[in-house]
Amino acid sequence: MLYIVATPIGNLEDITLRAIRTLKEADYIAAEDTRHVQILLQKYEIQKPTISFHAWSDDRKLIQLLQILKEGKNIALVSDAGTPGISDPGYVLVKAAIEAGIQVIPIPGPSAFLTALSASGLPTHQFLYLGFLPMKKGRQTMLETFKDEERTIIFYESPHRIMKTLTEFAQKFPGRTMVVARELTKIYEEFFRGTTGQALEHFQKKNPKGEFVIMLGSESRKGNGNSESSDTNDNGSTD
Ligand code: SAM
Repeated sequence: MLYIVATPIGNLEDITLRAIRTLKEADYIAAEDTRHVQILLQKYEIQKPTISFHAWSDDRKLIQLLQILKEGKNIALVSDAGTPGISDPGYVLVKAAIEAGIQVIPIPGPSAFLTALSASGLPTHQFLYLGFLPMKKGRQTMLETFKDEERTIIFYESPHRIMKTLTEFAQKFPGRTMVVARELTKIYEEFFRGTTGQALEHFQKKNPKGEFVIMLGSESRKGNGNSESSDTNDNGSTD
């Protein structure tokens, strides 16, 4: 069987009992980064052979993993953080395993976009998750569609592109509600809630570090700007 195991997005306590048991019982752990996964494995005293499986893995790696599965062994697939396959490697292996008649079992757990959405205060009944936005080709066409989008839009952003994106959004979508979730589940977790312009102003004041989830609401706020808020929490994260 191929187990798709969600792992913490920062705080190492955010792992399910079933995920720990699955990792303990698997014959192999296929990991995006075999060194990075050791932090988690050591915390839960899991000793298992690891195999690397990342975005650049070629067909030979896929064949190797399928061969192991066909021999009747169990593989637990993990990514560096969160749910494998969600803006992370996983899909190709899952598809190949299904096609080979191997049972694929998901072990649910954290994902940064759902964690961010759940505490955003933006409408959650319908949303559009876009992973990482295209950097160049197709980006402007995609942003155009945001103008009439009623659903909450969620996407991931890297620390070195965050200011560029916030600037672009403040220009293109002035007054739209925006929530920026930074360093979720970690010591410096922060939720900034306000408009696109306020988000830009807020993060211009500091040199934003860490990992980000950006959420764009469909509402426009033309108020006096007093509605912005930024919450920071101490999660006592171990990461
Ligand atoms: N598979 C992961 C998941 O289920 O969320 C996503 C992996 S993707 C390669 C990494 C991106 O997820 C980061 O660049 C960031 O945008 C977002 N992310 C991951 N952990 C996060 C965290 N603790 N706080 C905020 N964003 C996070």
